[in-house]
Amino acid sequence: MLVLVLNSGSSSLKFNLFDMTDETLLLDGMAERIGVDGLFRWTAGKEGESRELPLPDHDTALREVLGVVARIVPKGRHINAVGHRVVHGGPKYGESVLITDEVLADIETYALYAPLHNPSNALGIRVARHDFPDIPHIAVFDTAFHHSIPDYARIYGIPFELSQKYGIRRYGFHGSSHAFVAARTAILLARPLRSLKLVTCHIGNGTSVCAVLQGHSMDTSMGMTPLQGVIMGTRCGTLDPSIVDLLIEKEHLDYRAITDLLNKKSGLLGISGVSSDFREIEMAADQGNARAALARDLLTYDVRKFIGSYIAVLDGVDAITFTAGIGTNSPRLRAEVCRHLTYLGLELDEQANTTGTGERLISTPTSKVAVAVVPTNEELMIARETVK
Ligand code: AMP
Repeated sequence: MLVLVLNSGSSSLKFNLFDMTDETLLLDGMAERIGVDGLFRWTAGKEGESRELPLPDHDTALREVLGVVARIVPKGRHINAVGHRVVHGGPKYGESVLITDEVLADIETYALYAPLHNPSNALGIRVARHDFPDIPHIAVFDTAFHHSIPDYARIYGIPFELSQKYGIRRYGFHGSSHAFVAARTAILLARPLRSLKLVTCHIGNGTSVCAVLQGHSMDTSMGMTPLQGVIMGTRCGTLDPSIVDLLIEKEHLDYRAITDLLNKKSGLLGISGVSSDFREIEMAADQGNARAALARDLLTYDVRKFIGSYIAVLDGVDAITFTAGIGTNSPRLRAEVCRHLTYLGLELDEQANTTGTGERLISTPTSKVAVAVVPTNEELMIARETVK
């Protein structure tokens, strides 16, 4: 079965083609700067290209994707299904679904909770359904994995009627990633997932930590939207809501300006004044930039704090897993987080942590808590869901 995976953003369209007979990645690419000017790049084995071209809209971008797909798809075969990444599945979708007109309308409605993501996801679906009218399209939701979170961990402390009326609750995100790395961690440990207590840490531009019990999400740091929890590249993370009142009053900001400030100008960028990119933060901190050091230390501290609270949620922990850009690539952050967990009998294998590469355990064989690094693969997860 050939599965095309699409991840449609406001100005980008990521695409992957998998042969799910053996889960081979046949094509990996991205159309960027849609509606601005246009950049199109892809790789397929040894083949590939990167070129600038006008991409006025998602339609044009998908046409380009189809051109490449036609070149790559083996003779006599065709795409059997399209899997779409959808950020928010709202209260209704606890698992992946076949996309119908009703599902698409729901995805558009849930822009209420994910205004930066769901409208672009819906647009990608519309365009792809138009171009591939005869094959199934599947929505795979970032929120679905977290439907197992118990009521007491997902309710906010506001009047219950309002929570009910508007679906205000913790939804959680990065579900495909947490599910993928949890399953890989079980394989690394050679133990069944259903026997494990895991804390998975997706630390990238967006960051979330998740408590995974027997393969099910029990709690996660993001909330109704992806703004809550650990500080991120440009997002503020958890905030006292009264700060919003103060800024509205003193800075004369309206709610749009506040949303923009908290989503795009805060986090590592806002604190450091240097960058939202953690590599640049680490570099600036090493060169003595105090605000960059503060941003780095807050990220490390936040991750540590959530891990600690999720160990309490799970009543213990078998393994802690790091993934995404920072989690996979910053040995210093991992070491700093783990340095404060030695009371659990956690022993980091310094060499595996600093010089090892790829998916691996970075704890010693005698460590009472295992520590793993697992590069995430959300696209493969979406392709698997599509086949399922
Ligand atoms: P993601 O959103 O998962 O693509 O992760 C992006 C983040 O990973 C950015 O903040 C990058 O600076 C960070 N990152 C990528 N490579 C490294 C590295 N070698 N060391 C530290 N951070 C990195």
